[in-house]
Amino acid sequence: MKNYLIIGNSAAGISAAREIRRSDPAGRITVLSDEPSFGYSRVLLPLYLAGKLRRKEMLIAGKEFYSSLGIRLLRNDPAVNIDAKAARVRTRRGKGLAYDSLLVATGASPRKLGVPGEDLPRVHYLR
Ligand SMILES: Cc1cc2nc3c(=O)[nH]c(=O)nc-3n(C[C@H](O)[C@H](O)[C@H](O)COP(=O)(O)OP(=O)(O)OC[C@H]3O[C@@H](n4cnc5c(N)ncnc54)[C@H](O)[C@@H]3O)c2cc1C
Repeated sequence: MKNYLIIGNSAAGISAAREIRRSDPAGRITVLSDEPSFGYSRVLLPLYLAGKLRRKEMLIAGKEFYSSLGIRLLRNDPAVNIDAKAARVRTRRGKGLAYDSLLVATGASPRKLGVPGEDLPRVHYLR
């Protein structure tokens, strides 16, 4: 049985997990996320912040998605090290995750602009 590990639980990671399951019904799929929530849409973030959507309406992959496809989701625990020779990923909480195939789907994060005032209270970055 093949052991798949995906780092990142957003559009890319979730789509990959779904497609891997489609082509390999028996493989072991683990998705590792540094966020506490199930998979949600970044695209809908402005609507959520504006109070036009509830939290649960942002989900693109709720609890049922992972359980119905037999995908193990590890939340709130970022990958901190990849040892490609040993084929192992270490997480901040100290888990060691072995893999046969690894997908790094960690996306991007906002870049600070480097302008005066950017660190003032109430200045936030929207990804
Ligand atoms: C407000 C907004 C509106 C958008 N509108 C559109 C649109 O209309 N159309 C469109 O096509 N695209 C849109 N996008 C872009 C789209 O959301 C991104 O292209 C998409 O989310 C990228 O998906 P991704 O999975 O590659 O990366 P991301 O969504 O960035 O996800 C990466 C995930 O990896 C996690 N991660 C990072 N490091 C680690 C680690 N070390 N360990 C574990 N997990 C980690 C992150 O927390 C995150 O959950 C929009 C984005 C935003 C913010």
